[in-house]
Formats: sequence, C-alpha cells, structure tokens
Amino acid sequence: MPSEKDGVMIILSSPSGAGKTTLVKKLSQKDNFEISISHTTRQPRPNENQNEDYYFINVSEFERLIKNEEFLEYAKVFNNFYGTTRTPVIDNLNKSRNVLFDIDWQGADQIKNKKLDYKLITFFILPPSKEVLFERLSKRHANDNLIAEERMKQFERDVLHWINYDFVVINNDLNECYLKISNLIDAVINNGSQDYDPSYIRKHVEKLTS
Ligand code: 5GP
Repeated sequence: MPSEKDGVMIILSSPSGAGKTTLVKKLSQKDNFEISISHTTRQPRPNENQNEDYYFINVSEFERLIKNEEFLEYAKVFNNFYGTTRTPVIDNLNKSRNVLFDIDWQGADQIKNKKLDYKLITFFILPPSKEVLFERLSKRHANDNLIAEERMKQFERDVLHWINYDFVVINNDLNECYLKISNLIDAVINNGSQDYDPSYIRKHVEKLTS
C-alpha cells in the first residue's frame, strides 16, 4: 500500500507534437513537484542544457547504466536511447515530493509493471486533430518536411497506446489542458471528485484513428 506521506509519480506521455514537454514544465511549478531528468544518447538541441533538460551521455555510458541496473525504465525512441535512473526518483518520493515523468509509452508500461509502492497517475496527451498535429510538426521541423511526415506515421502507431493510461487529455489550448491535468492530479491525491468523461475521449480517439 502506498503511504500517504510519500510523493506521487505522475507520467505524461504523448505522440510527438502534442505539447507534452511544455505541460510538464508548467506542472513542475506546482508546489512540491519535481521533473525526473532522463538520460539520453541523442544530441542536445540548440535550446537544451546538459543536466537540466537531459543528462546527455554516449551509448557506452548508457550501456554501463543498463548493466549496473540503475534504470527504473529505459527504451529506444526514434533511434536513440532514453532512460530514468531509479535513485533520484525514489529519493524524491521518500521526501514526499511528487515526481513528473515526460516519458514514452514503453517507459510508462515498464513503471506500471514494476508495481512500486508509490501512487502512480498516468496521462496521455492527444492533439485536437490530425490536421493541427501536422501543422505543429511542420512548424517545428520547418527545414525538413520529411520529419513531419515520419512523425505523423509514428503518431498512427503511438496513439493506440491511449488505452493503457488512467486519463487521456486533449491539448487544444495549453492553459486549459494544464488546468485539466492539474485538477485531476489534485483530485487523485486528495481523493476528490474527478472531472473526466471517458466516453468523450473514446469518441475523440475514434476520430483520430479513423
Ligand atoms: P525528445 O527527443 O523529443 O526529447 O523525446 C522523444 C521521446 O522520448 C518523447 O516521447 C519523450 O517523452 C521520450 N522520453 C524522454 N525521456 C525518456 C525516458 O527517460 N524514458 C522513456 N521511455 N522515454 C523518454
């Protein structure tokens, strides 16, 4: 049984381009919330900082962490490795701090299957429509349209994992989406009533996958 004084684990996953990283950063400003910083073998982007956005490491260092069983979860995403080391997460949870994870469905599955003794809340963020997603991805990868097309194909595969999450939230407007997630987290932590309509979500997913 999770103890009431331990922190809560909150996972946000989404297909690329649904706005998850911005949401995680906004949620981390809530009182007593920490972002779990992942290790990755991918190259930093121009706006990213070592030890803040990620711990950028090489493949042999990543393999060493796997061998030493330091990862709570790890996965290969778009040809790079990504992983969450166990110690900082457990330390924070034991200090009653809530930990936010910006990880993909593979990592979410692994953490869920570990059945750790901490409360876990999982969110899957979806775009309002395929058209909006393509527009966002084309803007983000303006100098290489092939990437946007490749990510759209990946979207068709990733979206199928929505079913394994506690809550699916549509990111139509960043602020509204943030409030929805924030309220649901508070409701779960405080055993309050949850403003959530699963049948609306099911219909939205049907539209996205048709
Ligand atoms: P990006 O390279 O755009 O920062 O992230 C690509 C994907 O990897 C995103 O879906 C992100 O959530 C996921 N990701 C980031 N860190 C981790 C991690 O530690 N573990 C797993 N499984 N996925 C991660």
